[in-house]
Amino acid sequence: MLTPPLPAPHPRAPITRPLRVKFILPALTEAKSPFWRPIKYSLFPPLGLASLAAHLAPDDAAEIVDDHVQRLSTDDAPDLVVIQVYITNAYRAYALADLYRARGCFVALGGLHVTSLPDEAALHADAIFIGPGDQTFPAFLRDFRAGCPKPVYVSAAGRTAEELPPMRRDLIDRSRYLVPNSIVVTRGCPQHCDFCYKDAFFAGGAGFYTQRVDEALAEIDRLPGRHLYFLDDHLLGNRRFAEALFDGMAGMGRLFQGAATVDSVLRGDLIERAAKAGLRSLFVGFESFSPANLRGSNKKQNLARDYGEVARRLSDLGIMINGSFVFGMDDDDEDVFDRTVDWAVRNGLTTATFHIMTPYPGTRLFARMAAEGRITSRNWDRYDTRHVVYRPAKLTPQALEAGYHRAYRDFYSWRNIGRAALVHPSAKHRAKHFAYAAGWKKFEPLWDLAIKARRLALMTPLLEAVLSRVTRGEGGGAEVGALLQPESTG
Ligand code: SF4
Repeated sequence: MLTPPLPAPHPRAPITRPLRVKFILPALTEAKSPFWRPIKYSLFPPLGLASLAAHLAPDDAAEIVDDHVQRLSTDDAPDLVVIQVYITNAYRAYALADLYRARGCFVALGGLHVTSLPDEAALHADAIFIGPGDQTFPAFLRDFRAGCPKPVYVSAAGRTAEELPPMRRDLIDRSRYLVPNSIVVTRGCPQHCDFCYKDAFFAGGAGFYTQRVDEALAEIDRLPGRHLYFLDDHLLGNRRFAEALFDGMAGMGRLFQGAATVDSVLRGDLIERAAKAGLRSLFVGFESFSPANLRGSNKKQNLARDYGEVARRLSDLGIMINGSFVFGMDDDDEDVFDRTVDWAVRNGLTTATFHIMTPYPGTRLFARMAAEGRITSRNWDRYDTRHVVYRPAKLTPQALEAGYHRAYRDFYSWRNIGRAALVHPSAKHRAKHFAYAAGWKKFEPLWDLAIKARRLALMTPLLEAVLSRVTRGEGGGAEVGALLQPESTG
């Protein structure tokens, strides 16, 4: 996979004393831009790093530094620095890696961007991880202690999420996050959309696998309070696992949020079971209304599905929707922005996440765009789904960026927040929808204040109240939860 092969690392003496390990999540470039909404980057703790830290020995000293929410000091010299690299923090990650390596620290890089561009990452690392780290990181640690770490660790056969040690939540400062109770119980996704960065990450081995249900339930049990956020790419992706999970959660009194595909909402009664277990909001990847776009991006699971039925079914179950939409696919023209916003408002979506199509390196979309000579920028900082980095088919780059910003502005106008809320039959549902959408987008100074005062925990009861169930007797309508969703790609 790597060309040219990395040089063998210098021989190292075995390490018999406890290790000092620093895990770093560098800030995404957009987190420092004028678009920065501090609350958006204070939602979820870095669970991936906490999962890796679980493989350390009990007497090793470890810290996790999330550059989005705390000051990152670099005047230390740990034995091992592990950095998680995304495409829009890659340059900062490399600068940090270079700094620590110059100081004699061993630097290991992993994450989505390292997997998609290993040659680039390897220039800044003593070791790199390709693919998920659940199996490769413990193998690396054994080699590192023995003084013979390899330059590349590739996750291939033998991937599993079973019997892993519980993640080191003790290394996470819960007060810095709005949703410290985030959790991941599966890995990957059973679908294979051409634009999906995650799909590329899991290439070369099992692409979708789950924890054992009893281990997932035990992890849930360890989390305080009521609210949970499942960060899985597709919580309903394995029917048998999801059924057992929701059955196990019934009666736990939890309120939770997650993500799933259009087809999984329409199929069977899984979504009813999820609602019964406490599902109150769902991130749904609608992405496009155009069959040509769906076919062209291998998003087969959305083809010939009734999106309106998805919205109605979720609304009837009291599950709020964060709809995800991609602009700039080859069949999109000037109309796509207004049509999408209009549909989202008419169907009562609580929040919407819009993306400019972004051909991430390593994806089939990138390969196609590169083969067609349509990639116009390889500045990874611009790969943030807000900028156009390729030549669109039916739009100018300027029209695409302008339409994207207009879609956000229009969807979150007071008028449209009100119109979308009125779609729901119950007065309480309408009120919660309005309060949530407005609260999420219109009260930035309040969020900033809570972050600066380290008082995000005070928001949890509010969030749980908004996510609480509205019973059928109230206003003759449906149950309702409300929504807090990241504006992530998915
Ligand atoms: S875009 Fe969503 S549905 Fe498609 S492969 Fe990625 S996670 Fe799965």
